[in-house]
Amino acid sequence: MKFHAIHLPRFVLVGEDIVDSVGRVCLDLGFAKGSTVLVLSGNTSTRYFGDVVRKSLAEVGFNAFLDTVEESSSSLLERVLDVAKETKPNLIIGVGGGKAIDLAKLASFKLNLQFISVPTSASHDGIASPRASLMNERGALSELAHPPIAIIADVNVIYSAPRRLLVSGCGDILGKFTAVRDWRLAHKLRGEYYGEYSASLALLAAKMVKKDAEMIGRHRKESVRTVIEALISCGYAMSIAGSSRPCSGSEHLFSHALSRVSKTRALHGEKVGVGSIMMMYLHGGDWKGLRSALKVLGAPTTAKELGVTAEEVIEALTLAHTIRPERYTILGDKGISQKAAEELAIATGVID
Ligand SMILES: [Zn+2]
Repeated sequence: MKFHAIHLPRFVLVGEDIVDSVGRVCLDLGFAKGSTVLVLSGNTSTRYFGDVVRKSLAEVGFNAFLDTVEESSSSLLERVLDVAKETKPNLIIGVGGGKAIDLAKLASFKLNLQFISVPTSASHDGIASPRASLMNERGALSELAHPPIAIIADVNVIYSAPRRLLVSGCGDILGKFTAVRDWRLAHKLRGEYYGEYSASLALLAAKMVKKDAEMIGRHRKESVRTVIEALISCGYAMSIAGSSRPCSGSEHLFSHALSRVSKTRALHGEKVGVGSIMMMYLHGGDWKGLRSALKVLGAPTTAKELGVTAEEVIEALTLAHTIRPERYTILGDKGISQKAAEELAIATGVID
C-alpha cells in the first residue's frame, strides 16, 4: 500500500520573553527530569541565548550541556555526533539563526532523537522545516531530516536581531510565489505529485508578507510575529508535501547557482528574493508587484545591492537548471541561454 507520512511539530510557542521557559516546555512535552539535553548554539551573539536555554533546563532538573558550532558543515556534524556519543542526550535543542538549528536537526535525525528549534532570528524557513542545509566541498546541500517536535520563538529575541535577517526571511517567503508556480508546472508537464493544501499554505505565507510589507519594512514589533508565523507555515507546507516543492523552485535554483559563481555575502533570502523577481517575469506573473514588495521591505532587488556583478547574475541564470536537474521548473531541462538571461536581468532591472 502506498502511504504518505506527515510529521509535524507538536508544539509552537510564539511570544515575548519566553526564551527562558524552554526548560518548562520540555517538562510539558513529557521529557523527564534528570534526562540529558544537548543545546547547540552559534558561537557569537547566539551563544548568550544558548546559555539562557541551558540554564532554564538546569533550573527545572535537566542535565544540560551547551556546545557551540560556527557553521553547518559535514565535519561539524561529525563533531556534534561525537559530543552526543559522550553526553548521550535524550533531546537536542538548536538555538540560533540557522546553523545551530540545521545541525541540531541533522544530528537528532541521525540519532533518532527529538529536537526543538529555538530561533534567534527569522532569516529563512529552516526554523520549522524538515530540511537542513549542510556545507560540503561542493557548496550548500539541502538534506531531508525531520521537523522539530517544538518551536519556541521569542519575539523580543528575534526583534533585537539585525533587521537585515528578518528582511531576508521575507525574501525567502516571497519566493514561494514562484516556487508554487514551478510546482504546478511540474505537475502539469511531468505528472509530478502536487498537493493543493501545502501549496496554499506556502502561498498564504507569501501573501501575508506581501500585504504587511510596509509594516515589516518599518520594523514594527508586531510584524516580527507575522514573519515568524509565515516561516512556520512554510515549514508545515514542506512537512505536509513531504518535500521542499511548495517552498523551493527556480528562484532557489538561482540563489544556489549564484552562491557557486560568486563570493557574495548576500543572505539566502536576499538572493531568493531577486531570483523570484526574474522567475516571476518568466512565468508571466506580477513580477513588478513582487519587486515593489521587496523594495518596501528594504530587501535587495538588483545585482548591485546583492554585491554581485552583472556577469555573475547571467552565469547563475544559465547554470540554475543544473543545480537540481530532477526539480523541473520554468527554466526547463535546457535552462536559459546567455542572451535570454541577459535580456531577462535587464528587463527586470536586476542589471543595467
Ligand atoms: Zn529558502
